[in-house]
Amino acid sequence: MIPSLRQSDIAQPDRQRLLAVLGSTGSIGTQTLEIVQLFPERLKIHSLAAGSNWELLAEQARTFQPDVVCIADEGGYTLLKDALSGTPTRVVSGMEGLCEIASAADADVVVAAIVGAAGLRPTLAAVEAGKMVALANKETLVVAGALVERLAREYGATLIPVDSEHSAIFQCLVGEDAETVESITLTASGGPFRTRPADTFSAVTKAEALNHPNWSMGAKVTIDSATLMNKGLEVIEARWLFGLQPERINVVVHPQSIIHSFVTFVDGSVKAQLGVPDMKVPIQYALTFPDRWPAPHERIDWATLGSLDFEEPDFERFPCLQFAFEALNQGGVAPAVLNAANEAAVELFLAEHIGFTDIPRLIERALSQTPNEDGDDLESLLAADHAARSMVREHANVFAS
Ligand code: NAD
Ligand code: MG
Repeated sequence: MIPSLRQSDIAQPDRQRLLAVLGSTGSIGTQTLEIVQLFPERLKIHSLAAGSNWELLAEQARTFQPDVVCIADEGGYTLLKDALSGTPTRVVSGMEGLCEIASAADADVVVAAIVGAAGLRPTLAAVEAGKMVALANKETLVVAGALVERLAREYGATLIPVDSEHSAIFQCLVGEDAETVESITLTASGGPFRTRPADTFSAVTKAEALNHPNWSMGAKVTIDSATLMNKGLEVIEARWLFGLQPERINVVVHPQSIIHSFVTFVDGSVKAQLGVPDMKVPIQYALTFPDRWPAPHERIDWATLGSLDFEEPDFERFPCLQFAFEALNQGGVAPAVLNAANEAAVELFLAEHIGFTDIPRLIERALSQTPNEDGDDLESLLAADHAARSMVREHANVFAS
């Protein structure tokens, strides 16, 4: 999709934009709320939703006074309701509550910042309600990119990327014609193990994998960055966001994370978007698009920046990136299997049940043992997701015993 919205396309541009934030207690969610506090006249919270952290959700509700909050984990419902008794905020729960918030008529922008495939149904609900969706939840496009694309067209929803690389591409495309794009290149920091020898990967600890050199993020995406699966998921995300075939999507390792991604045009010209690594910049752009609002985020200090380096990604040391390209080329349910196997394996790694090199081993097995089928409807995608998770957990038990 080429960004083409103009101010006049947005209803009542001068009134406050009402936001529904799904995943408000996470890394992207809390940074979204920091942006809202920067612009109290222009942004207002309509609703908030989280997985299980009802204490932080209650605190956020007292600060932002939303109409409604949702706790996905039913176990937290009574606790949250008690914590917010006497306030005007209504409390809902579960998947039904998430979808209610995602499709609420009053919300102008839905920030999709739940981690993992858990964000799929609520994001689809927002798309089917024709919302402007600020999309951080890349897993939704990995699992169901074709379906989301079709529904967004049918219901008139707009997806604005929050992921820094996709925001960069999106910003480079403003004012351009889709026909003039030759290729896009996603930059990757290379993660904490960019220079670490492969024969030491089996000794990688959870703490080492969680220690990202440039970005502070939630645990799952941090592990994905260490395996380079994050870049693989982003290639698939880019395929659907920008309607590009896989051969026109490149990856280059750029350890400084200053150039967030770039577009090469048919005349050989290249446009890039740069900035210090700070997710608040792409989050804010997704909330203010097609405008830019003045903000005090850190600027690049050109005098001390030093050199910017680039290198080829190493597909051998980081096979997850290769698996993602393969799953994208296969199509059908393969990307859903890739994503689910990765989520299950990362969960097991974070629980210290499996080692770092077991993550790609388990994903490869799940992909090779799943017959590929059409992934046109939600049911077949969810069934493939479910089967891949079970397969990974079973194999992991075999590894562990
Ligand atoms: P996080 O783990 O910090 O936060 C996840 C949020 O999702 C929390 O609010 C949690 O309560 C909620 N959640 C978890 N499971 C849920 C469930 N079953 N139902 C409802 N809510 C649930 O994650 P994050 O780092 O903020 O990442 C969120 C998404 O944004 C991911 O898809 C990630 O890939 C993407 N992203 C994150 C960053 C970053 O800097 N953190 C950058 C780019 C993209
Ligand atoms: Mg990213």
